[in-house]
Amino acid sequence: MQQADWTADEMRRHGAAAIEWVAEYLEKIRDYPVAPRVKPGELAAAIPAEAPADGEPMEAILADFEKTVLPAVNHWNHPRFHGYFSVSASGPGIVGELLSAALNVNGMLWMSCPAAVELELAVTRWLRGWLGLPEGFFGMIHDTASISTLHAIGAARAAADPDLREEGAKPGMVVYTSEHAHSSVEKACMALGLGRRHVRKIGVDAEYRMRPDLLERAVAEDRKAGLRPFCVVSTVGTTSVTSVDPVKEIQAVASREGLWHHIDAAYGGAAAMLEENRWMLEGAGEADSLVMNPHKWLFTPIDCSAFFCRRPEALREAYSLTPAYLASREDPKAVHLMDYRIALGSRFRALKLWFVMRHFGYRKVCGIIREHIQWARELAEEMRAHELFEVAAPVTMSLVCFRLKAGDAATRAVMEKVNGSGEAFLSGNVLDGRFVARIAIGNIKTTREDVWRTWAAVRQAAEEAVKGGAV
Ligand code: PLP
Repeated sequence: MQQADWTADEMRRHGAAAIEWVAEYLEKIRDYPVAPRVKPGELAAAIPAEAPADGEPMEAILADFEKTVLPAVNHWNHPRFHGYFSVSASGPGIVGELLSAALNVNGMLWMSCPAAVELELAVTRWLRGWLGLPEGFFGMIHDTASISTLHAIGAARAAADPDLREEGAKPGMVVYTSEHAHSSVEKACMALGLGRRHVRKIGVDAEYRMRPDLLERAVAEDRKAGLRPFCVVSTVGTTSVTSVDPVKEIQAVASREGLWHHIDAAYGGAAAMLEENRWMLEGAGEADSLVMNPHKWLFTPIDCSAFFCRRPEALREAYSLTPAYLASREDPKAVHLMDYRIALGSRFRALKLWFVMRHFGYRKVCGIIREHIQWARELAEEMRAHELFEVAAPVTMSLVCFRLKAGDAATRAVMEKVNGSGEAFLSGNVLDGRFVARIAIGNIKTTREDVWRTWAAVRQAAEEAVKGGAV
């Protein structure tokens, strides 16, 4: 029989080449244009229509990776990638990911890999501590916040309706969230068959925070109409402006009304770990569930979403189902994560998070995040002082939303010019009916100088547009 996989020597050779490539890529990342200059379909057209019948040498594949794939990469790991939410894979996270691929275990059952299960429980316990959540929260890791939130709302519905498991869903179950909540909340409701008509988008105050009085009123109206309110989702760090919903007041409404309270702290959870930001999660200890994404602002490679739930029995009610081939008879203390989630198999995501948390430690992580927040504030000050710009929303975390006083077209033109230059990457949004550009600071390699280079590029694009009469 011919040799199927690599020998140890081949692994050493190709692995070393790949690690060398990674080290050089990260060292020289500032030399790359942040955003690619390709057109839709360009990469797809460059790839042969069919896979090779006979294999090719690694050298040829790596060469093609550089020649064909890399030019179509938007470099999220670039220190001046400021679009969406700026995220990054740190060194220890990348190494953790590599080892996890090498082990290739499946953490569905305790028995299927005790290390994957128990490290997942241990590392979420660590993170729970960093977030200041009480012990009662049971933690696990999903791929994304969208999936964590889907699990939360699904469990909330199971907890609200004891017949759900056998009889299926009742109509008229209602979920509440703010008009600035992430679309993943509504998507989860769609996927669960609740219907978009039963998602109430509660109004916000002048700082884009959900108004508990409007929440309370909406719940009362729905009850009066014979509907079944069962869940509220608040956000700590909204996608549009990183506003922080008043968790404690929302929790009070949830407790009074018997609603499951899920907190989407996918991004803002990282900011809330800082001592000075503890107010952001005040009251969260009484909530039912919370999601925080280490793959956003905790320097862990995507995907890694930590999901905490104070009512794990509701997760079991919603998601456990054990076919005979998976029934296990070991010690009842063994935890089987498949009982708490939809997916059977799961990657060893805890390993990379363990590497990151352990290697950097709480103090260093907080120090980096604190600097990002400080630079965002300084940048916003610069913008406020500049005659062409205005800051569109309070800077609560490390996101600066801005627009040009000249209007939407000018803001969009400046964003596109900066992105086209390769110097930095920003993304856009619509806030209060007007276009805004976003500069998010969250990459572990970003320095103050990077932020100032981005600001220089933005300023230059705006000043040129004015000079050229485009604005
Ligand atoms: N919640 C918030 C507040 C977000 O900003 C995002 C994405 O940016 C999500 C949820 C969805 O995250 P994911 O891509 O992990 O599903």
